[in-house]
Amino acid sequence: MSETATERLRQVFEVDKQLRGLRSRLNQAERFLGAQSQQLASLTQKKEAADRQLRQLQAKAGEHEGEAARLEEKVNTLREQMNLAKTAREYKAFLTEVNTFKADKDKAESSALEYLQQIDELKGELAALEEAIAERSKMCHVAEGERTEREGEIAGRLKELEADRDRLRGLAPADALRDYDKRIARHPDEDPMAPIEEQDRRRHEYTCGSCMMELPVEAMSAVLSKGTVNFCPSCGVILFLPKELADALRPANSRSS
Ligand SMILES: [Zn+2]
Repeated sequence: MSETATERLRQVFEVDKQLRGLRSRLNQAERFLGAQSQQLASLTQKKEAADRQLRQLQAKAGEHEGEAARLEEKVNTLREQMNLAKTAREYKAFLTEVNTFKADKDKAESSALEYLQQIDELKGELAALEEAIAERSKMCHVAEGERTEREGEIAGRLKELEADRDRLRGLAPADALRDYDKRIARHPDEDPMAPIEEQDRRRHEYTCGSCMMELPVEAMSAVLSKGTVNFCPSCGVILFLPKELADALRPANSRSS
C-alpha cells in the first residue's frame, strides 16, 4: 500500500519540527545578543550625553573662574590707586568701587564653585556609566561568541534537515502540502498537525491531540478510510493517526508490509 497523503505530510511535519527546534536555539542566542547590544547602545548614548554636559559645565566653571580672576586683579589695582588717594573723598570713591568689584568677584567665585560641584557629581555618574559599559561590552562579547557557536553547531544539521524536508515535500501530494502550508500561515506559532488520541476504543472515543475535543465518528472513519487530509472539526489542525493506533485500528490485510 502506498503511503497516504497524511503520512507524507506527517513526515514533512516531523522534519519541520526538528528544524524549528534547531533554529530556536540559534534564535535564542540571537535574541540574547540583540538585547545586550541594545543595552550597550543605550548606555553609550547616556555616556555621550553626560560627556557633552561635562564639557558645558567645565566651560561655564572656566568662564566664572576667569571672571573672578579678572575682578580680583581689578580690585588689586584699585587698592593700589586707593592707597595713593590724595583726599578722603577720592579714597571713599575708590573704596566704594573696590567693594562693588569685590562683591561681583565673590558672586563669580561662588558660581564657579557651584559648577565645580556639579562637575564632581557628573564625574561620579560618568565613572558608573563607564563601568556599566565595560560590563555590558563583556556580555555582548559572550553573546556574540555564543551565537557564532550555535550557528556553527547547527549549520551541518540544518543543511541535512533542509535537504530532508525538500525531499519529503517532493513526495507529498501538492494539494495536501497546500493545506499544510495554509495551516502554518494562519497559525505560525502552533503545530500544523496533531495526533489522534485514543480515549476508549470500545466506545469509539477519540480526541484531537491539539484541542482535546472529541472527534465525531464520521471524522474518525474518514481518517481511517481515505488517504486525504483530515482536519479537526473543532480547531482545524491536520489530524494524523500515530502508527501504533493505526496498526491497531486498521484491519490486518490493509496494513503496510
Ligand atoms: Zn482539534
